[in-house]
Amino acid sequence: MVDLTGQYQGIKEELREAFDRILDSASFINGPEVSAFQEDLERYLGVKHVIPCANGTDALQIAMMGLGLQPGDEVITADFTFAATVEVIALLQLTPVLVDVDPETFNIDPVAVERAITPKTKAIVPVHLFGQCADMEALLAIAEKHGLYLIEDNAQAIGANYLFSDGRRQMAGTLGHVGATSFFPSKNLGAYGDGGALFTNDDALAHTIRGIVNHGMYRRYYHDVVGVNSRLDSLQAAVLRAKLPHLDAYCDRRRQAARYYNAAFKDHPLLSVPVTVRSCQGICDTCDCHVFHQYTLKVGGGKRDALAARLSEAGIPFGIYYPVPLHRQKAYADARYREADFPVTNRLCEEVISLPMHTELDPEQLEFICKTVLESLKQA
Ligand SMILES: *Cc1c(COP(=O)(O)O)cnc(C)c1O
Repeated sequence: MVDLTGQYQGIKEELREAFDRILDSASFINGPEVSAFQEDLERYLGVKHVIPCANGTDALQIAMMGLGLQPGDEVITADFTFAATVEVIALLQLTPVLVDVDPETFNIDPVAVERAITPKTKAIVPVHLFGQCADMEALLAIAEKHGLYLIEDNAQAIGANYLFSDGRRQMAGTLGHVGATSFFPSKNLGAYGDGGALFTNDDALAHTIRGIVNHGMYRRYYHDVVGVNSRLDSLQAAVLRAKLPHLDAYCDRRRQAARYYNAAFKDHPLLSVPVTVRSCQGICDTCDCHVFHQYTLKVGGGKRDALAARLSEAGIPFGIYYPVPLHRQKAYADARYREADFPVTNRLCEEVISLPMHTELDPEQLEFICKTVLESLKQA
């Protein structure tokens, strides 16, 4: 699904130098490399504060801690996402409220969000799934109208842009009160181990979060709030710093692959290719609104699993993201959920399949993958 060796070749010299520097200085945690990466990322995103941490799941948890959410507060998020999003809500003893998603973008449905709001609702967590922003304009309006926090799960969409209807653009993860991202190796900006970060334009919140990531300390050995241990190490910061200047080019490579796939599959009666945001009016093919963390097809006619089996036979990797809606997971079941509230997620879990997507796909590989998919569907 991913090939990280090609990227490594491109930054090898630079990385070796940075690693030597770090090993010689023995400054492994919160050293100068981490602050330099933080500043580089603030500049790239056009956001006031980046707070590095240990992974994306921590970043989400720390965002909720930083906003002062309390047990019993309801947090609305998408039924169709990776479990980390709902896991941290439950872990903090907040009440997760899962809602359905849009059938075309796979992102949280603002209408379902508004329907789920109660007097206990405190926050909405949109996930920019597969590399494309949720409908932030609608969500920002809902958050403002009901006085709710907007926490962006940007683990899959770093580098994506959100285009407002007035033509304004803003980087994914910097649109809400706070954004959380992951630098897991297979993410669009991946470290060589775990890593994560929070983004915010709010000075007070940034200050609170900087303490929380470091045991609630604002002054050494004075613990003002309950915190966690969640730090980015210097070696990971060096990797991320070397890759950041290439992120836009990496995203371009992914979009090129997506265009190739789109051209091959768009007219097939059983396949639906990914739909890019409506506000782009279709120009997304050439713009930077979608960074294709995943290239996900919907397969109709009940043929998804047969296709998956054929890809396995042909030695082509694929992913089913996600096979089970969160509301049906044992850990997150809730008597309040009714199947009728999740028609889209339920169907997507049976129809989606993600094809290989990374920066090193060459035309030969793409051709082989497309040919195999189309032939499999004939036989399936
Ligand atoms: C990867 C991911 C996370 C978690 O990030 P980690 O760094 O693995 O903890 C959270 N949310 C989504 C949507 C993700 O894809």
